[in-house]
Amino acid sequence: MFKFHCKFPFSMISIVETKQKPIEETEQSISKLLQDLHFKPKKTQIFIKPNIVDATDPRNPTITHPKLVEGLILALSKLGGKKFIIGENSGYFSFKQEHFQRLLEETKYERMIKRLQKKYGIDVISENLEFTDFMDIQWKYGTLSIPKYVKTHTYINVPKMKSHLMTGATLSLKNQKGLLLLRDKKQFHLGYGGKTNLHDCITELGAIIKPDFNLVDATTALEGTGPSMHPEGQTKTRTLNLCIGGENMVEVDNACLTIMGISHEEAPHIPPMQVKISERSLPLIPASPPFQKPADFIKYGNIYSKCSSWGCTGCQMAYSRIFRKFSFNSALMEKWVKLQQKYPKIYFYIGKRDINEIEIDSIPKIFFGQCTKKNYGEYKNRLMKENVPDILNNVLFIPGCPADHNAGLEAILKFQ
Ligand code: SF4
Repeated sequence: MFKFHCKFPFSMISIVETKQKPIEETEQSISKLLQDLHFKPKKTQIFIKPNIVDATDPRNPTITHPKLVEGLILALSKLGGKKFIIGENSGYFSFKQEHFQRLLEETKYERMIKRLQKKYGIDVISENLEFTDFMDIQWKYGTLSIPKYVKTHTYINVPKMKSHLMTGATLSLKNQKGLLLLRDKKQFHLGYGGKTNLHDCITELGAIIKPDFNLVDATTALEGTGPSMHPEGQTKTRTLNLCIGGENMVEVDNACLTIMGISHEEAPHIPPMQVKISERSLPLIPASPPFQKPADFIKYGNIYSKCSSWGCTGCQMAYSRIFRKFSFNSALMEKWVKLQQKYPKIYFYIGKRDINEIEIDSIPKIFFGQCTKKNYGEYKNRLMKENVPDILNNVLFIPGCPADHNAGLEAILKFQ
C-alpha cells in the first residue's frame, strides 16, 4: 500500500485523454484538466519548464511535445495568464546559446512560439536557463542556485513520461533537475562529495522547489533504456494519448508510475504516496503491457556503455563525442566495423560502482574517467587473485575528470 510522505502534502490529480493535434482539442483537454482541479494561475506571469533535452523531431518521445505546451499556454491565457516564458537548458551536454537556438528550431518550439505570438497575440518567449537570473537557496546539502522565475512567476512543470536508465523513470521530480546549472547537475551525480546520492538529491530538490502545477505529457511516452531514443529495440514509443496533472509532484509521479508499471524500488527518487483522483478524471489504469524496463547499459554497435548514477555529464559528454568521431570519419568507422567482428562486446564503465557488479570474463573493459580508477584497481586485483592474468590485457583505464574523448577512442581501437 502507498505510504503518506509528509514533505509533500496530499492534493488531487486528474487524467485526461489528450492528442497532440488539432491544437483546439489539445487546448480543450488541458482546460478540462485544469478546471477539474480548480487550478488558476496565482500570478499572470507564467514560467513553463518542459523537458527539451535533445535537438530532435517532436515526434520523438524524448521531449515534451511543443503542441502540448502550446495547448497549455492557450488554456492558461484564458485563465488570466499574460506573459509566458518557456525555460530550458540547451540540451544534453552543452550550455551554449547557439545549441539552445538549434534545440528550439529542431524541436519546433521556435515555430510554436512564433505561431502563438502571431496568430493569438500571446506574449511568449523562450529562455536558456543557463543564462537566466538565479537566486541562492539553502537546502539539505548547502546552497543551490535556482532560476528566480520559480518564485516570481507561476511555475508550471511539464515533463515527458519516460523510463530512465539511472532513475527508473523521469517525470515531474526529475524534470526539475533541468532547472540547475551544469555544475550543480554534476554535484547531484556525485552526491555532494559522497554525502548522498542522485536519487536523494532529486527528492530533496522537490522538497524545496514546488511547482504551482505539473502536467505530464504522456501523449506519447518513452519506454526502455531512456531518457533518449536508442536503436535495436533498446527504447520504444508508447502512445497513450494522456495527460496527467496535479499540484503535487509526488502524487502526479506516483500516478505515472502506476501507469508505467514501474516500482518505487526501480525509481527510488519518487517517495510512495497515496493518489487521489478527481471525480471527472479518467481512471488510473496501468498500461498493458507494462513499460519495457531500462537496461543497465546503452549499446552502440559492440560498445556497451554502463553508466552508473554516479557518472556525471562530463564523461557522458566525452563518451558521446567518441561516436560522433566514428560517424564523421569513414577511416575510423571502417576500423570500428572490423573491431565489431573481433569482439561482439566491449564494456565501457562511467561512474563508480560496487565492484561486485562487474563480472570476471574476457570481455574487453574500459574504465573511463577518474572516478572509475578505484574500480579499475579492484578489478585488476580480482583478476590476479582468481589467477586469470591473461585477461588483464583486455582492461584499460582512462584518467581525467572528465576523461578525454580522443583517449577513449584510442582505447577502443587498441583492441583491434
Ligand atoms: S571522472 Fe567523469 S564521471 Fe567522474 S566526476 Fe569526473 S567527469 Fe564526472
